[in-house]
Amino acid sequence: MIIKSAEFVVSNSDVEKCPKSSLPEYAFIGRSNVGKSSLINMLAKRKSLAKTSGRPGKTQLINHFLINKNWHLVDLPGYGYARVSKSAKKTFQKFITQYFSHREQLVTAFVLVDIRHKPQPIDLDFMKWLGENGIPFSIIFTKADKLKPKAIEHHIDDYKAVMLEFWEDMPNYFITSSTKNMGSDMLLTYIDGLNKNLKL
Ligand code: GDP
Repeated sequence: MIIKSAEFVVSNSDVEKCPKSSLPEYAFIGRSNVGKSSLINMLAKRKSLAKTSGRPGKTQLINHFLINKNWHLVDLPGYGYARVSKSAKKTFQKFITQYFSHREQLVTAFVLVDIRHKPQPIDLDFMKWLGENGIPFSIIFTKADKLKPKAIEHHIDDYKAVMLEFWEDMPNYFITSSTKNMGSDMLLTYIDGLNKNLKL
Protein backbone atom coordinates (compact mmCIF):
# COMPACT_ATOMS: atom_id res chain seq x y z
CA MET A 1 0.00 0.00 0.00
CA ILE A 2 1.20 3.47 -0.80
CA ILE A 3 0.01 6.23 1.48
CA LYS A 4 -1.34 8.91 -0.83
CA SER A 5 -3.07 10.99 1.78
CA ALA A 6 -2.74 11.35 5.53
CA GLU A 7 -4.84 13.90 7.36
CA PHE A 8 -5.17 14.71 11.02
CA VAL A 9 -8.82 14.31 12.08
CA VAL A 10 -9.23 14.86 15.81
CA SER A 11 -7.55 14.54 19.21
CA ASN A 12 -9.47 13.79 22.37
CA SER A 13 -9.50 11.90 25.63
CA ASP A 14 -13.04 10.59 25.30
CA VAL A 15 -13.84 7.52 23.24
CA GLU A 16 -17.35 8.88 22.71
CA LYS A 17 -15.86 11.76 20.75
CA CYS A 18 -13.76 9.60 18.44
CA PRO A 19 -14.88 9.77 14.79
CA LYS A 20 -18.28 8.16 14.28
CA SER A 21 -17.27 6.71 10.92
CA SER A 22 -17.13 2.96 10.57
CA LEU A 23 -13.79 2.96 8.75
CA PRO A 24 -11.41 0.28 10.02
CA GLU A 25 -8.80 1.54 12.44
CA TYR A 26 -5.40 0.51 13.69
CA ALA A 27 -4.08 1.73 17.03
CA PHE A 28 -0.43 2.33 17.86
CA ILE A 29 0.61 2.26 21.50
CA GLY A 30 3.75 1.78 23.58
CA ARG A 31 5.94 3.24 26.28
CA SER A 32 6.83 6.90 25.98
CA ASN A 33 9.91 7.42 23.85
CA VAL A 34 9.62 4.00 22.18
CA GLY A 35 9.65 5.73 18.78
CA LYS A 36 5.91 5.76 18.07
CA SER A 37 5.72 9.21 16.51
CA SER A 38 8.76 8.49 14.35
CA LEU A 39 7.19 5.22 13.21
CA ILE A 40 3.90 6.89 12.31
CA ASN A 41 5.74 9.55 10.36
CA MET A 42 7.73 6.86 8.57
CA LEU A 43 4.57 4.95 7.64
CA ALA A 44 2.86 8.07 6.37
CA LYS A 45 6.06 9.40 4.77
CA ARG A 46 5.41 12.71 6.51
CA LYS A 47 7.97 14.59 8.56
CA SER A 48 5.65 15.59 11.36
CA LEU A 49 2.23 14.03 11.06
CA ALA A 50 2.68 12.73 14.60
CA LYS A 51 4.75 15.05 16.71
CA THR A 52 8.00 13.47 17.81
CA SER A 53 8.22 14.10 21.48
CA GLY A 54 10.52 16.72 22.86
CA ARG A 55 8.86 16.01 26.19
CA PRO A 56 7.79 12.41 26.70
CA GLY A 57 4.35 11.93 28.20
CA LYS A 58 3.10 15.16 26.68
CA THR A 59 0.73 13.73 24.13
CA GLN A 60 -1.93 12.24 26.39
CA LEU A 61 -4.67 12.08 23.79
CA ILE A 62 -6.26 9.70 21.31
CA ASN A 63 -5.25 11.07 17.91
CA HIS A 64 -7.07 9.99 14.76
CA PHE A 65 -5.50 10.29 11.31
CA LEU A 66 -7.36 9.44 8.12
CA ILE A 67 -5.19 7.49 5.70
CA ASN A 68 -5.99 7.22 1.97
CA LYS A 69 -9.53 8.22 2.92
CA ASN A 70 -10.25 4.60 3.83
CA TRP A 71 -8.77 3.76 7.22
CA HIS A 72 -7.85 5.43 10.49
CA LEU A 73 -4.46 5.32 12.07
CA VAL A 74 -4.83 5.97 15.79
CA ASP A 75 -1.94 7.36 17.78
CA LEU A 76 -2.57 6.52 21.43
CA PRO A 77 -0.71 8.10 24.35
CA GLY A 78 2.59 6.63 25.46
CA TYR A 79 2.39 4.78 28.76
CA GLY A 80 4.77 4.27 31.63
CA TYR A 81 6.31 7.67 31.84
CA ALA A 82 7.51 8.09 35.41
CA ARG A 83 6.98 11.82 35.70
CA VAL A 84 3.25 11.70 34.95
CA SER A 85 1.30 12.10 38.21
CA LYS A 86 -0.74 9.27 39.71
CA SER A 87 -4.03 10.95 38.86
CA ALA A 88 -2.89 11.51 35.26
CA LYS A 89 -2.00 7.80 35.07
CA LYS A 90 -5.47 6.84 36.32
CA THR A 91 -7.19 9.08 33.79
CA PHE A 92 -4.97 7.62 31.11
CA GLN A 93 -5.82 4.06 32.07
CA LYS A 94 -9.49 4.86 32.09
CA PHE A 95 -9.71 6.30 28.63
CA ILE A 96 -7.36 3.77 27.11
CA THR A 97 -9.32 0.87 28.54
CA GLN A 98 -12.50 2.57 27.34
CA TYR A 99 -11.01 3.05 23.91
CA PHE A 100 -10.08 -0.63 23.58
CA SER A 101 -13.30 -1.89 25.13
CA HIS A 102 -15.69 0.23 23.08
CA ARG A 103 -14.07 0.96 19.76
CA GLU A 104 -15.69 -1.57 17.46
CA GLN A 105 -13.91 -0.20 14.40
CA LEU A 106 -10.56 -1.29 15.84
CA VAL A 107 -9.13 -4.07 13.68
CA THR A 108 -5.89 -4.58 15.55
CA ALA A 109 -3.52 -2.85 17.93
CA PHE A 110 0.20 -2.48 17.39
CA VAL A 111 2.21 -2.57 20.60
CA LEU A 112 5.57 -0.90 20.12
CA VAL A 113 8.59 -2.23 21.95
CA ASP A 114 12.17 -0.93 21.83
CA ILE A 115 14.14 -3.86 20.46
CA ARG A 116 17.16 -3.06 22.65
CA HIS A 117 15.42 -3.69 25.95
CA LYS A 118 14.61 -6.89 27.76
CA PRO A 119 10.87 -7.59 27.97
CA GLN A 120 9.41 -5.01 30.34
CA PRO A 121 6.59 -5.89 32.76
CA ILE A 122 4.57 -2.87 31.68
CA ASP A 123 4.49 -4.06 28.04
CA LEU A 124 3.92 -7.70 28.97
CA ASP A 125 1.06 -6.76 31.30
CA PHE A 126 -0.50 -4.56 28.68
CA MET A 127 -0.35 -7.34 26.07
CA LYS A 128 -1.87 -9.76 28.59
CA TRP A 129 -4.67 -7.31 29.17
CA LEU A 130 -5.28 -7.07 25.41
CA GLY A 131 -5.32 -10.85 25.15
CA GLU A 132 -7.69 -11.26 28.08
CA ASN A 133 -10.02 -8.74 26.50
CA GLY A 134 -9.94 -10.41 23.10
CA ILE A 135 -8.22 -7.51 21.35
CA PRO A 136 -5.95 -8.64 18.51
CA PHE A 137 -2.49 -7.15 18.44
CA SER A 138 0.93 -7.38 16.84
CA ILE A 139 4.25 -6.30 18.29
CA ILE A 140 6.33 -3.71 16.50
CA PHE A 141 9.97 -3.77 17.52
CA THR A 142 11.44 -0.29 17.04
CA LYS A 143 14.95 1.17 16.67
CA ALA A 144 16.38 -1.96 15.02
CA ASP A 145 19.15 0.21 13.51
CA LYS A 146 20.68 0.36 16.99
CA LEU A 147 21.54 -3.35 16.93
CA LYS A 148 23.54 -5.56 14.61
CA PRO A 149 21.56 -8.30 12.80
CA LYS A 150 22.85 -11.05 15.11
CA ALA A 151 21.87 -9.05 18.18
CA ILE A 152 18.42 -8.47 16.71
CA GLU A 153 18.01 -12.22 16.37
CA HIS A 154 19.08 -12.76 19.98
CA HIS A 155 16.76 -10.10 21.32
CA ILE A 156 13.82 -11.53 19.38
CA ASP A 157 14.62 -15.03 20.64
CA ASP A 158 14.75 -13.75 24.23
CA TYR A 159 11.49 -11.92 23.74
CA LYS A 160 9.83 -15.01 22.29
CA ALA A 161 10.99 -17.12 25.22
CA VAL A 162 9.36 -14.74 27.69
CA MET A 163 6.17 -14.42 25.64
CA LEU A 164 5.80 -18.19 25.39
CA GLU A 165 5.63 -18.40 29.17
CA PHE A 166 2.17 -16.89 28.85
CA TRP A 167 1.13 -17.21 25.22
CA GLU A 168 0.70 -20.35 23.18
CA ASP A 169 2.36 -18.71 20.18
CA MET A 170 4.50 -15.67 19.67
CA PRO A 171 2.18 -12.93 18.43
CA ASN A 172 2.73 -11.58 14.97
CA TYR A 173 5.65 -9.13 15.01
CA PHE A 174 7.50 -6.62 12.86
CA ILE A 175 11.07 -5.36 13.06
CA THR A 176 11.36 -1.68 12.22
CA SER A 177 13.66 1.30 12.18
CA SER A 178 12.36 4.76 11.43
CA THR A 179 15.81 6.17 10.86
CA LYS A 180 16.59 3.44 8.29
CA ASN A 181 13.05 3.30 6.89
CA MET A 182 12.90 -0.39 7.70
CA GLY A 183 9.71 -2.42 8.09
CA SER A 184 7.36 0.16 6.68
CA ASP A 185 6.37 -1.82 3.57
CA MET A 186 5.72 -5.00 5.56
CA LEU A 187 3.50 -3.16 8.00
CA LEU A 188 1.54 -1.34 5.33
CA THR A 189 1.10 -4.55 3.34
CA TYR A 190 -0.20 -6.23 6.49
CA ILE A 191 -2.73 -3.45 7.13
CA ASP A 192 -3.74 -3.48 3.49
CA GLY A 193 -4.36 -7.24 3.67
CA LEU A 194 -6.54 -6.86 6.76
CA ASN A 195 -8.50 -4.02 5.14
CA LYS A 196 -9.12 -6.15 2.05
CA ASN A 197 -10.22 -9.12 4.15
CA LEU A 198 -12.78 -6.95 5.92
CA LYS A 199 -14.38 -6.20 2.57
CA LEU A 200 -14.72 -9.87 1.58
P1 GDP B 1 7.50 8.51 21.05
O1 GDP B 1 7.62 9.23 22.37
O2 GDP B 1 7.24 7.06 21.25
O3 GDP B 1 6.56 9.15 20.07
O4 GDP B 1 8.97 8.51 20.40
P2 GDP B 1 9.63 9.46 19.30
O5 GDP B 1 9.23 9.05 17.93
O6 GDP B 1 9.43 10.88 19.68
O7 GDP B 1 11.16 9.02 19.47
C1 GDP B 1 11.81 9.08 20.72
C2 GDP B 1 13.31 9.20 20.47
O8 GDP B 1 13.80 8.04 19.82
C3 GDP B 1 13.69 10.37 19.55
O9 GDP B 1 14.90 10.91 20.00
C4 GDP B 1 13.85 9.72 18.19
O10 GDP B 1 14.74 10.41 17.36
C5 GDP B 1 14.40 8.36 18.58
N1 GDP B 1 13.99 7.34 17.59
C6 GDP B 1 12.73 7.05 17.19
N2 GDP B 1 12.73 6.05 16.28
C7 GDP B 1 14.01 5.70 16.10
C8 GDP B 1 14.66 4.70 15.28
O11 GDP B 1 14.07 3.93 14.52
N3 GDP B 1 16.03 4.62 15.38
C9 GDP B 1 16.75 5.43 16.22
N4 GDP B 1 18.07 5.25 16.25
N5 GDP B 1 16.17 6.37 16.99
C10 GDP B 1 14.83 6.51 16.95
